Amino acid sequence: MKAFSYLRAGSVDEARQAAASSAAMLLAGGTTLLDLAKCGVAEPETVVDISHLAGLDAISFTDQGVTIGALAKMSRVADDANIKAQFPAISQALSLAASAQIRNMATIGGNLLQRTRCPYFRDPATFSACNKRAPGSGCTAIGGVTRNHAVLGTSDACIATNPGDLAVALVAFDAVVHLGTREVAIDDFFLLPGTTPEREHAIEPGEMITAITVPASAAARRSIYLKVRDRQSYEFAAASAAVGLELEADGRTIRDIRVALGGVATKPWRARAVENALKGQRLNAATVKRASQLAVQGAVYHGGNHYKIALAPRVVERAILTMGEMA
Ligand SMILES: Cc1cc2nc3c(=O)[nH]c(=O)nc-3n(C[C@H](O)[C@H](O)[C@H](O)COP(=O)(O)OP(=O)(O)OC[C@H]3O[C@@H](n4cnc5c(N)ncnc54)[C@H](O)[C@@H]3O)c2cc1C
Ligand code: SF4
Repeated sequence: MKAFSYLRAGSVDEARQAAASSAAMLLAGGTTLLDLAKCGVAEPETVVDISHLAGLDAISFTDQGVTIGALAKMSRVADDANIKAQFPAISQALSLAASAQIRNMATIGGNLLQRTRCPYFRDPATFSACNKRAPGSGCTAIGGVTRNHAVLGTSDACIATNPGDLAVALVAFDAVVHLGTREVAIDDFFLLPGTTPEREHAIEPGEMITAITVPASAAARRSIYLKVRDRQSYEFAAASAAVGLELEADGRTIRDIRVALGGVATKPWRARAVENALKGQRLNAATVKRASQLAVQGAVYHGGNHYKIALAPRVVERAILTMGEMA
């Protein structure tokens, strides 16, 4: 690990000023940053510790929704009774992520900014070609081992999957990311790789996440996060879906539906084609099955990840039907 200096930020403003330098990185829970520093992917000259900053770990509810501070721990948000009642998919996404030890340490802001688990990205000593790590160097994954790579939102420059669980639920329910002086809709916050896979999100130098807000909605109240993975714990998603459902008074016609996918795309993926196909329709198994196929519209596979094109619609279908049964 490259040597770095340590700065304990005294305030959000001080942290922001320090973060304006490209040689500085913020430290929240440290569960990702230290990993990346150890494997030589992150090489900050200064680590700016924000973990102790007062007021950034609050969870506050209004009639309009919830605001969650960037430093709130994953486990506390997952266990919050009001989050469980009003945003079950958010609670479930957090509970199904990582391990209990990591969730006790890791923060909401750090979780949104975790990096891809593409093995070529995380092993610079062996694989020098990685456009995300070294722009213009090429992509070792294309033509390599791709079982865990993305099938949606890929480009010729990068096919790495965004690994986060929470972000999928946030994209489904139109969360907003607070960056101190401005706010960004979560779907715009995460960037497609295009020709610049090294740019993963909308944060500019000198900005940091201070909080996220999630609007209250009937769909968020009746929601689920379904995660399919190789093991039942301590594993990233092969495919996941956050689904929220609001029915008309007849109990069978879909008034509002939210669908987002994880584990299959280069960013947390809102499946609007599925939503549009189902809004106003009667909820029944055949209609849901047909609409769920639209979740992978435009999907492209590279070698070993073709199974995700079959898997993702099934995860979406099961999540929607599970919500329907609870109506
Ligand atoms: C073995 C293992 C398994 C895991 N499994 C899963 C999983 O299944 N699902 C899942 O979603 N995650 C998983 N994770 C990822 C884990 O959830 C993240 O490591 C954690 O959420 C990061 O939070 P942190 O506070 O420790 O971030 P840190 O490591 O402190 O920071 C991460 C990054 O975010 C930046 N940052 C932190 N806070 C801010 C802020 N407020 N504003 C701007 N930048 C900031 C840092 O500079 C750094 O670049 C796993 C991690 C490990 C190690
Ligand atoms: S898929 Fe992306 S992160 Fe992985 S090697 Fe290619 S460019 Fe790097």
